[in-house]
Amino acid sequence: MSPYLGEPRDLYHGRALCVLKPRTARDVGDILALCNETGAPVTPQGGNTGLVGGQTPDASGDSVVLSLERLNQIRAVDAAADAMTVEAGVTLAQAQDAAQAADRFFPLSLASEGSCTIGGNLATNAGGVHVIAYGSMRDLALGIEVALADGRLLSTLGALRKDNTGYDLTQLFIGSEGTLGVITAATLKLFPRPRSRAVAFLGLRNPAEALQLLNFVKGHAGPMLNAFEVMSRPGLDLVLRHIPGTRDPLAQAHDWYALVELAAFAEGEAERAAAEILAAALHAGLAQDATLAQSLDQASALWKLRESMSEAQKREGGSIKHDVAVPVNEIPRFIEEAGQRLRAAFPQARPVPFGHMGDGNIHYNVSQPVGGDKADFLAHWTEINAIVHGVVSELGGSISAEHGIGRLKRDLLRQTKSPVALDAMRAIKATLDPNGILNPGVLL
Ligand SMILES: Cc1cc2nc3c(=O)[nH]c(=O)nc-3n(C[C@H](O)[C@H](O)[C@H](O)COP(=O)(O)OP(=O)(O)OC[C@H]3O[C@@H](n4cnc5c(N)ncnc54)[C@H](O)[C@@H]3O)c2cc1C
Repeated sequence: MSPYLGEPRDLYHGRALCVLKPRTARDVGDILALCNETGAPVTPQGGNTGLVGGQTPDASGDSVVLSLERLNQIRAVDAAADAMTVEAGVTLAQAQDAAQAADRFFPLSLASEGSCTIGGNLATNAGGVHVIAYGSMRDLALGIEVALADGRLLSTLGALRKDNTGYDLTQLFIGSEGTLGVITAATLKLFPRPRSRAVAFLGLRNPAEALQLLNFVKGHAGPMLNAFEVMSRPGLDLVLRHIPGTRDPLAQAHDWYALVELAAFAEGEAERAAAEILAAALHAGLAQDATLAQSLDQASALWKLRESMSEAQKREGGSIKHDVAVPVNEIPRFIEEAGQRLRAAFPQARPVPFGHMGDGNIHYNVSQPVGGDKADFLAHWTEINAIVHGVVSELGGSISAEHGIGRLKRDLLRQTKSPVALDAMRAIKATLDPNGILNPGVLL
């Protein structure tokens, strides 16, 4: 059972009664009905890539881990309706491939896409690098099929674009982290497949310049803007040090970087627009230097710098992570303020902020001091959280932009969500899962 009892950050290890791997939605329902009758807690699990411990059972050893990995059928791809119905255990990469095989595009894209599953993406309302253009998983689902705690299957599957018949049950289960039902399948939106793509990497002075650049690119590229990611020099240094085959794409070092991707439907259109926009941005002094990928390999190499950030940080030792969001225009203030307060309290700690600037979502990760002791540093988790989340709260932000709450942020949720909102959430939970068998200890 051991692969099902730990998780990628090694923060949580659980025990379980058993791991069950049903093949059909009906089997999932029957398992839940039995668990409901006997009061056995159920931990739904997809690709086990979640970063907040929601897929790990607790230490009691009483839980049933319900792995969805064998529900892995693509049920239907309907290019004419721009929709496909896939089972919960289909990996994100398989879903993307199925869309592409029908000459369509499924835009959700995460560094974990080879392992994470559509069920997990829905349960966590996953975000990723294309939210700026297509929204998060919440925006990409047309319907879902869910096994309820009592074993019944609820289905809103189908390619309907409009259905104004009361409460939105599909959305209720998205982002519910396995606490309201077990998702067994979903109908997902498909989009026209972009025919051209341009990826640029720009050297910047600071986050304020990144914000100006973002607004400039938005204004000139409009809907072609597909991704706008930022990272700091200390982050790039970690990648260059730890990830084989990476190299600095610019001649000189800069304090900050932006990775910008444009996509368009006519051959060569994105490349042409990107070249013009980069030249204009450099001319206007909105970036210090820039490079535009000239091949798919070069584009992948630029993306690798951004996508290897978590792995590089892991190899550098302990890090205390924050997946936070603030209004996009407040990002420079957030980074500045959090940095100042951290330096005052922990002068040796190394902030390595990076992320989806276009959506106001920064992964504000703090690496341990050079040569310091990992455990000593991680012992400051709560204090460092309090500093970073304090700034987030002052700026009207969120303590979880895309990874969810899980076990990691459950107490923080209680501190930051309004009592009325928490009451409403508990009432929904009590109605759909009266015996509390679904992922107890997660989220609420
Ligand atoms: C390298 C790396 C990069 C990442 N990048 C991003 C990113 O850019 N954006 C982002 O949003 N996330 C990111 N993540 C986090 C993670 O990949 C996502 O949260 C993903 O959506 C989880 O999918 P999963 O199948 O692995 O779910 P799991 O980890 O197995 O489960 C996650 C949660 O969903 C529940 N769950 C899983 N399947 C179901 C189901 N069928 N029904 C009901 N509940 C279910 C679990 O109980 C748990 O609470 C990243 C993770 C890694 C390791």
